[in-house]
Amino acid sequence: MRTAALIVAAGRGTRAGGEIAKQWQVLAGRRVADWTVGVFEAHEAIDRIVIVHAAEDLTEVQGFAERGHLCVQGGATRDASVRAGLEALAADPPERVLIHDVARPCLPAAVIDRVLEALDSAEGAAPALAVTDALWLGAEGVVTGTQDRTALYRAQTPQGFRFNAIVAAHAAHPGGAADDVEVARAAGLHVAIVEGDEANLKITGPEDFARAERIMRQSMDIRLGNGFDVHRFGEGDHVTLCGVTVPHGRSLQGHSDADVGMHAVTDAIYGALADGDIGQHFPPSDPQWKGAASEIFLRHAVELAGSRGYRIANVDCTLICEHPKIGPHAADMKAEMARLMGLEQGQVSVKATTSERLGFTGREEGIASLATVTLVAA
Ligand code: MG
Repeated sequence: MRTAALIVAAGRGTRAGGEIAKQWQVLAGRRVADWTVGVFEAHEAIDRIVIVHAAEDLTEVQGFAERGHLCVQGGATRDASVRAGLEALAADPPERVLIHDVARPCLPAAVIDRVLEALDSAEGAAPALAVTDALWLGAEGVVTGTQDRTALYRAQTPQGFRFNAIVAAHAAHPGGAADDVEVARAAGLHVAIVEGDEANLKITGPEDFARAERIMRQSMDIRLGNGFDVHRFGEGDHVTLCGVTVPHGRSLQGHSDADVGMHAVTDAIYGALADGDIGQHFPPSDPQWKGAASEIFLRHAVELAGSRGYRIANVDCTLICEHPKIGPHAADMKAEMARLMGLEQGQVSVKATTSERLGFTGREEGIASLATVTLVAA
């Protein structure tokens, strides 16, 4: 089912402090809006993203437009901005739309999942948290009464709707609604409540930046691993390095195909996962791995990372030898490693150095390789 995300970023809110609107202020190294848009970019159910912005913020959204998102000028009120976003989508209407406040950058993907799941059986669905604190009425700093909290919820976004239903609801609404659920309900739509998340806070005041930053840092699970490998030269007429066969007067010796580069990268992935090394996963004592293509090991490590919830952000591999010359083959090696790991070529580096004729690599007794891999929680 085709699903669009509509991100409302036209507000001029400066209650959070600073000269510029809060969505363009930096939080944990990126602008608030970049985090928010990034959550939807990373979600596989989202096909299209519309960002509704203020007229004067054209340069702020340029990067989003370059990434293929629709950037639409908003109106004077929140409703008018949402309507502008819906109109922009109407040319090629999705089946569902999730309307989200740009000021909620810590939105967990699981909240999107819950909204989408509820939309299978409801015309609208939105996340909320039941109120658990006691509620008081007060005036001039004095408690004047209490309020029953049963059946009270704190509303969040994204608020999801069947596209045609919310377009019609907005068209019929006189304006002034606090959110899209209010608009939907005014049109008689049935809106399901799904569980929200405390992390999905709305940045309003300056203290919210500090809270959001703490949440971001907690969820930024980044792992680094290194790998090192050496194989000695023996008789032969080629070497296999990073999956590419290179003609050479000698071959590398080893239990498998002795692809020293691929082994270092594989060990770096196991290292980042804190899960042993190639020798533990594929014991040299086991005859089934004799002469094996090293891509079996690499694929295993990549799949293991995926099964633990990590994706590979980048790989950097250095081959250390005097000969063969790596330069002419480096592009092929990079392409092959990217293909094997399911990565873009821009995520993979294969480079080489000599050891200035010093040591075992300098005497051309063998080839060494170093690798570093970054894993990010997917
Ligand atoms: Mg090895």
